[in-house]
Amino acid sequence: TDIQELLLSRIRDVADYPEPGVMFKDITPLLADPAAFTALTDELAGIAASTGATKVVGLEARGFILGAPVAVRAGVGFIPVRKAGKLPGATLRQAYDLEYGSAEIEVHAEDLTHGDRVLIVDDVLATGGTAEAAIQLIHRAGAEVSGLAVLMELTFLAARPRLEPTLNGAPLKALLQV
Ligand code: 5GP
Repeated sequence: TDIQELLLSRIRDVADYPEPGVMFKDITPLLADPAAFTALTDELAGIAASTGATKVVGLEARGFILGAPVAVRAGVGFIPVRKAGKLPGATLRQAYDLEYGSAEIEVHAEDLTHGDRVLIVDDVLATGGTAEAAIQLIHRAGAEVSGLAVLMELTFLAARPRLEPTLNGAPLKALLQV
């Protein structure tokens, strides 16, 4: 579609970042283009509405940049899921494996409750490890996942089959697939 072409045209490939052999998808040109950023926000807010989301969770850090305007546009609250150690209040914490080692993410326990339907927003879905941990965090808080919405899915890393059991029927929506 025209919107997909616009979005794709504003994502820059950076070779060998953050390490040799990785082709990094840089979304900063998209953020700098108000027409593209607005189109992206509207698309994601449409997914929030169509999945009946009552809250938007953004994953640090680029998920904050995308998720916050989506929440405002959709008329629901925004909840940050942060790397461990950054949130001041009582948190739920979830560990997950990285290629080398592991990491932990957190959410304020009081931000998600039973009855919430949460749309998770991030920029790029790579292995799906971060998203999987976020889904587990939301479930542990007693809330439901309305869906997972990303700007770009790197299909060769096979996050989709990995996440399907955890998503438990909730949609995984990628505006672009490469
Ligand atoms: P995963 O856990 O799916 O392997 O990695 C996804 C996380 O890493 C996301 O939070 C995403 O922002 C970041 N990420 C991984 N690869 C890229 C990339 O090529 N471009 C951008 N912008 N983010 C990436």
